Amino acid sequence: MADLDIAGLTVPPGTRRRHEIELVELADGTKVSIPLDIINGGEPGPRLYLGAAIHGDEVDGVAILFRALADIDPARLRGSIVCVPVQHPLSFHADHRLPISQFMKSPLDQAPADAWTCFPGAADGNLAQILAATLFDMISKCDWAVDIHTPTRGGRYVPIAILPHPSLGEAHGRAEEMAHAFGSGWIMRTDSGFYVSDGILCVEATRAGVPCFTFETGEGGRLEEEVVDGGASYIQNVMKWLNMIDGDPIPAQQTYVMREFLGLRAQRGGLLFNRAKLGDLVKAGDTLCSIFNIYGDEVETIVAPEDGVFVRTTTLSTVSRGERAATLGLL
Ligand SMILES: [Zn+2]
Repeated sequence: MADLDIAGLTVPPGTRRRHEIELVELADGTKVSIPLDIINGGEPGPRLYLGAAIHGDEVDGVAILFRALADIDPARLRGSIVCVPVQHPLSFHADHRLPISQFMKSPLDQAPADAWTCFPGAADGNLAQILAATLFDMISKCDWAVDIHTPTRGGRYVPIAILPHPSLGEAHGRAEEMAHAFGSGWIMRTDSGFYVSDGILCVEATRAGVPCFTFETGEGGRLEEEVVDGGASYIQNVMKWLNMIDGDPIPAQQTYVMREFLGLRAQRGGLLFNRAKLGDLVKAGDTLCSIFNIYGDEVETIVAPEDGVFVRTTTLSTVSRGERAATLGLL
């Protein structure tokens, strides 16, 4: 087995190292660094990239990763793991989807603002592009990758593996196999919408030959044991499937493979009451949620326009016209 050289760090076989890569120097001289947890196994095998919190309010993913890797024995690991528990430390510091202090200060310089959409990035670009380029340099040296998210605040997903664009060929096929082994029971295989757009982390990783999907689970800004335990076991399923650790993946009892997200927006403002439960199978015409005005009149009932699965709920207590109230996954 050989040393693992990554991001200026040399990790001998059978060892685990924490490390940091400088991302940006702020106006007061403070340096913000990307944290790394690198495990170079004692036995040969694939290299797996695991990343979370490229959006800073998506905390469940951080805990999913440290729990999934807590009991890894470096000497017995087959292959290596490049784990970036907080992919965007400055937005994590803000506890916000974006590094909001930078965005408020210089909004034009911060466009594009969302690093997740800026892959493969640009080392001479703005903060989002520099971050994407720094991460992509590591991702492109791996064999497989998983990018963990939660919805932003006010949204809640079933645990769902969202595949990159199907046009990406053989690497997409391998990403799809990994999503089934992942075992969360929910897979989105779509060719439309922002999750499969050019520039998204998993799309560009897969295009570069590193099969990857986006994993969404839980809720932004919250840390929940059940969500963390589930996510950690799915990550371990991938490691078992890749034969990096011992054991067989725990299969999902049932897997829904969906073809499209259908977001339903409120036409009226008011208080939002969810009527169907997250994960429910619904028929066309079933009520998903109701909107009451502040006097107690029901002003809108949002129904499923077609059969589907209630994959993402809005957990904010109020909505304005035009805000997303519910999302169906179409089978
Ligand atoms: Zn996200």
